[in-house]
Amino acid sequence: MPDPCHLRSELFASHGLHGIVSLRTGGESNAPFDSMNLADNTGDDPAIVERNLRTLLAESGIALEPHRARQIHGCGVLHCRAAGRMHDSEADILLSVDGSPVAVRVADCTPVLLADPYSGLVAAVHAGWRGTEANVVGHAVRAMLDAGAQTGNMLASIGPCIGPCCFEIGEDTAAELRNCCPDAADFVLQKQGRPHADLTGINRLQLLQAGLALANIEVMLAAPAGCTCCNSRDYFSFRRDGAMSGRHLAIVAPMASA
Ligand SMILES: [Zn+2]
Repeated sequence: MPDPCHLRSELFASHGLHGIVSLRTGGESNAPFDSMNLADNTGDDPAIVERNLRTLLAESGIALEPHRARQIHGCGVLHCRAAGRMHDSEADILLSVDGSPVAVRVADCTPVLLADPYSGLVAAVHAGWRGTEANVVGHAVRAMLDAGAQTGNMLASIGPCIGPCCFEIGEDTAAELRNCCPDAADFVLQKQGRPHADLTGINRLQLLQAGLALANIEVMLAAPAGCTCCNSRDYFSFRRDGAMSGRHLAIVAPMASA
């Protein structure tokens, strides 16, 4: 059996949706991008990155190339339709209005996939600490509602990211995260006298505060097994490996159209 190259959201699959996050294994890139690197702007061979994308899509059963954008840790929305591609636009929320696949790239940051199976709208969200501080998932839910989704129908899957075990932050960042939404302070923990952030916990809280039902929010894998920094076999990590780290791709699409 070849190494698996992705995780799949059980919640999304049960609603006829692809919700996947690539793993580190199963690709062709050489060190330090070994092996399923999906970003061509960090020094890896673009031809290999393209082959990795084709492998990921084939293995996950997604036939169409996903829309991707230049991520800047903001709350900008790119409304996507028709053929997917890498856009020049800067956006950390990619919202598909016609069921075409949308994706974000991550290495430690939190990927959040959103869907309303009834309207067919799906979105991929990039939420690192800056995006989390700015409540990027709240902005994404509002963009989905503006496009015709209903909160009662909405599903969310939070993919693997750096966990509170490893995500030590400075006092200034800790103060910003504690104040980013009500009760966020519960997810900024003190360990050995230093603040550590639980990005999964804050994003989950923000989704609840945006009106999603508890039962409709899935955490794909809890830390530390799902901590990208702890688990070097399955995940790339910017905190652990620096700028030469590979990148994961988190993709969402309705199964019928993709
Ligand atoms: Zn960890």
